Amino acid sequence: MAIRNVRIPSRQLYINGEWREPVKKNRIPIINPATEEIIGDIPAATAEDVDVAVEAARRALARDDWGSTTGAQRAKYLRAIAAKILERKSELATLESLDSGKTLFESAADMDDVAACFEYYADLAEALDSKRKTPVNLHLDSFKTYVLREPLGVVGLITPWNYPLLMATWKVAPALAAGCAAILKPSELASITCLELGEICREVGLPPGALNILTGLGPEAGAPLSSHPHVDKIAFTGSGPTGVKIMTAAAQLVKPVSLELGGKSPIVVFDDIDNLDIAVEWALFGCFANTGQVCSATSRLIIQESIASEFLDRLLLWTKNIKISDPLEEDCKLGPVVSSGQYEKVLKFISNAKNEGATILYGGKRPEHLKKGYYVQPIIITDVNTSMEIWKEEVFGPVLCVKTFKTEEEAIELANDTKYGLASAIMSKDVERCERFTKAFQTGIIWINCSQPTFHQLPWGGKKRSGFGRDLGEWGLEKYLNIKQVTEYTSDDAWDFYKSPSN
Ligand code: NAD
Repeated sequence: MAIRNVRIPSRQLYINGEWREPVKKNRIPIINPATEEIIGDIPAATAEDVDVAVEAARRALARDDWGSTTGAQRAKYLRAIAAKILERKSELATLESLDSGKTLFESAADMDDVAACFEYYADLAEALDSKRKTPVNLHLDSFKTYVLREPLGVVGLITPWNYPLLMATWKVAPALAAGCAAILKPSELASITCLELGEICREVGLPPGALNILTGLGPEAGAPLSSHPHVDKIAFTGSGPTGVKIMTAAAQLVKPVSLELGGKSPIVVFDDIDNLDIAVEWALFGCFANTGQVCSATSRLIIQESIASEFLDRLLLWTKNIKISDPLEEDCKLGPVVSSGQYEKVLKFISNAKNEGATILYGGKRPEHLKKGYYVQPIIITDVNTSMEIWKEEVFGPVLCVKTFKTEEEAIELANDTKYGLASAIMSKDVERCERFTKAFQTGIIWINCSQPTFHQLPWGGKKRSGFGRDLGEWGLEKYLNIKQVTEYTSDDAWDFYKSPSN
């Protein structure tokens, strides 16, 4: 099907460097969230396909063309993938928007980030060659030792729909840089661009089996991957409840996992900020970018009482000014949420908040000019207390809840009053206060005088119920490496622990 001059490709599963029909031949419809129309379909993998893909990955590791590559050789593949992404940037961005509802501007930025992330891990793959074997000096003559950093093996990469190709890249690029063979299971709600990554890998001649891409439902394709005895690690990004299932399955085989889960991040705003509008825009971007479907969204605004009223007035003006439209329209800043399920979920959160006594200061309805599509106006909720669902639970939609504070101690207590620990933001011009908050925030990511900017050189991940392990940066590569110590006894003398029978 062609939409706005972009054809939705019809693909199969990408296994062993080829397109392969799923064993059970099932397919899942692709729904454009902006129109609610079916625009194509994706293959639905099951346990049988997982077996075939895992076998292909194992064979790739055993073959010299992948298993014996140097980091520099793998870097060439990563760079070639990055170049192809940029070559197809506008088409891939359009596909991403049609599939997930992301604004075209954000999808295009994602494609730049995808290419940059492949380039970055190409650099790290090259650097790995000199670090592959590190001698360790024991100051002993009788032993020679070194440490090897080797690919961990076959890795399962399970990813969500909010940044479909980017979240996949955060795992695929370092896994390939490390020399692992990978099986990617993207979200059934947005898989088009991940399948196109398969086509790109085929075009650049990535050795068969180094990357396999299985689209399909979580319980049917993700679960058998998590529990597969020949998968050495699962790297997961998604919701807490799924993370628990994956960790439980992996635990049966003592399989390592890394989990990047949800959040309910705070943004604390102090009255010493110089420019109210600048802070208002960060608060807006922190919660409404990607239609609020961001794990690190700063969805709890904690504002100093002395400026709360003026801040909220400005926040309202800025919010009303956000262009909500079909994500392919120019200047669209808020598209639909990804699916009817997510739409219903967001509306339910709003009605629950009302029922619990909160005030809907703005939004929460379908925009009048959009009769179809999973659109919801951005929502600002006040009169929130800390026992309410809206304060405690991740919505994953454009919903901001607001609380005020008087003292710094109160602000810290409110910020950390969550089971999650992904990100926190503080807006203040007091450098020492920002340092105090950096220490006090119980999260893996701290933003000072901003919210959300993300750089692939820096570690990404959380604590508490937001999970553990880190994507991105050198930490994102480490998790795909096996650290192997090698100890050699070099003395001609006997060890002499036991008495020799010949004496
Ligand atoms: P989800 O947990 O529903 O799905 C994520 C992936 O897991 C999908 O590919 C899905 O098919 C698969 N899956 C579902 N059930 C499974 C099972 N039983 N076994 C194995 N795999 C299974 O999450 P989602 O709705 O796609 O994504 C939204 C969530 O992701 C939010 O909670 C968000 O905060 C989180 N997220 C976190 C980060 C981060 O870096 N911390 C980034 C993006 C999204």
